[in-house]
Amino acid sequence: MKLFILHGTGGGPDRNWFPWLKQKLEEQGHEVIVPEFPGMEEQSLETWMNTFDQYRNELTEDTILVAHSVAPAFVLNLLRQGVSAEACFFVSGFTGLLGNKFDEPNKTITDRDFDFEEIKHNCSYFKMYHGSDDPYVPLEKAETLADNLDAELEVIEGGGHLHEPSGYTEFPKLLEDIETFSEDYHWMEEALVEAEKAMENGELPIGAVVVSEGEEISRAHSRTSREKITSEHAEMVGIRKAGDLWERENLTLYTTLQPCIMCLAAAVRCGVDRVVYAMDAENEVSTETLPDLEKHGAEIPEVTAGIKEQESVTFFERFMEKKKTTLPEIMSESF
Ligand SMILES: [Zn+2]
Repeated sequence: MKLFILHGTGGGPDRNWFPWLKQKLEEQGHEVIVPEFPGMEEQSLETWMNTFDQYRNELTEDTILVAHSVAPAFVLNLLRQGVSAEACFFVSGFTGLLGNKFDEPNKTITDRDFDFEEIKHNCSYFKMYHGSDDPYVPLEKAETLADNLDAELEVIEGGGHLHEPSGYTEFPKLLEDIETFSEDYHWMEEALVEAEKAMENGELPIGAVVVSEGEEISRAHSRTSREKITSEHAEMVGIRKAGDLWERENLTLYTTLQPCIMCLAAAVRCGVDRVVYAMDAENEVSTETLPDLEKHGAEIPEVTAGIKEQESVTFFERFMEKKKTTLPEIMSESF
């Protein structure tokens, strides 16, 4: 994948955990670009955009944007302008003003009326990190931004501004999360290959892959129409083909659509550790229902949403156009 690491106000490519992360990611075969933006005296949205212009043709469909401090707000400006990214990892990010000396250089970048719905259309996966005791950016600022982006926010106790003076010359958790995303991205591509096969058969475009310890165990696609068996959902077929799942470790079920209650129950019952899906189904019985099962002793899989969401959405759009139907109709028939 191609990654950008974007520094904050008065920062630079050689500061903080940036060189360490760049090296680690490059060792794994990723391409990493760390631009240098104008310093505090010249900092504005305009000067930073001008600097970024030279990198625009480097943006690819699998770009990941990693940003620190003021840079997450800069990324929001990019997304607002139509740049799209597969994932954004925001460290110590915020929007608005902070009431300190950095407001002056930051304000054209951070103090804007962001349209978060439009922004989320251009990136479906956001993860955020924030120090519980950040001396520059109050935690509430990050919480507000995480709410606006539907992002998972990881609060790091005593992490400060998660920069070099806070002891952050390395950031292993961030690297681990990027690696997980990269792996999820790869397997979701495979699940989408299955979804396309389903569509070619006139089925709903849903595909699934079961992975254990980084290896594929099975793959399947929806075949409810062809088999005339209502329970032949991609995930159910995949789980069945996978055989004895009790013998497996680190099980992940990848699926291109938020799974229904039947498939989720099967995943829980078969010991799946993670469920990763692309597109929200917007049905009332869903992954959000699962925590209730915890009361009854079930082990709840960790759920990750929004991996390659747009591709799955596009498949559904193609399917609906072909079948002259609508998503609510499909969903009511399917669940
Ligand atoms: Zn299902």
